[in-house]
Amino acid sequence: MSVLLFFIDGLGIGTRGPQNPLDELADAEPLAIFRDETIKTIHEGIIIPTDACLGVEGRPQSASGQTTILTGINVPQLLGYHKQGFPNAAMLEILREHSIFLQLTRAGIGPITFANTYTQRFFEERPRWVSATTAAMEAAAVPFRQVADLKAGRAVFHDFTNQLLIERGEDVELRSAEQAAQVLASLASEHRFTLYEYFVTDKIGHKQDVQLARTTLQNLARLIRELLVRIDLDRTSVILTSDHGNIEDLSSRNHTLNAVPTIVWGANRFHIARQIKTLADITPAILQTLTQKTASHK
Ligand SMILES: [Zn+2]
Repeated sequence: MSVLLFFIDGLGIGTRGPQNPLDELADAEPLAIFRDETIKTIHEGIIIPTDACLGVEGRPQSASGQTTILTGINVPQLLGYHKQGFPNAAMLEILREHSIFLQLTRAGIGPITFANTYTQRFFEERPRWVSATTAAMEAAAVPFRQVADLKAGRAVFHDFTNQLLIERGEDVELRSAEQAAQVLASLASEHRFTLYEYFVTDKIGHKQDVQLARTTLQNLARLIRELLVRIDLDRTSVILTSDHGNIEDLSSRNHTLNAVPTIVWGANRFHIARQIKTLADITPAILQTLTQKTASHK
């Protein structure tokens, strides 16, 4: 049994209307999810509207939401606030002790990996503030995938098309959604746990660029569809989730209070779906499914 966690930054479940770039968007399955409408999607995926507010007032934010997803600890409730951007000292401490990478390693589950690519510049000019995932990987000694791995078909950039890498001067080829899906599927087949993170959605949400939102969501939806046909869903659970809403409502440049879509496909999907109500339930559900003895399709 293995798990692929597909994380999308800033994707909530909104209502239909001109403010929502997913409304009346062609080929947007499985991302075209609207409030009070659908609970099932392609490949028998189960959609769970998931609470990202976590019992704390204010708009949910990335650092606290991602730390919660990656640890199973309700960080906003524990600390009393949502925090945007990068984790602060208190969150780093939680990530360094309780990340999913560490919890899986302690349970004897491996190999585990983060599919995303880090550039040489990251190591040369190591930023003072790092993402929740980077901090969690470092603490658990999960190796970083680099541009050489990407070129060898063994890593995916967070913008899976490589467009942003090329703009930064990296000598890499543009990748189609199909090609990126193939790389992710092969990593997922070789690891018990694979994480992939996609951030472009949150950036576009803040920019409120409707056209860019529509083309980007279409291509992201294509990546997910191409991934699902390349993955062995009898042996793999694919879990898609987000940290907070944003891109589903371009009438505001802020994050939204909407629930986020968690979608579970493949092995153990009913069992996993039943356990998820908030962002704090993702890590425990993954740990549970990977530590149980026998596979089940229910
Ligand atoms: Zn944001």
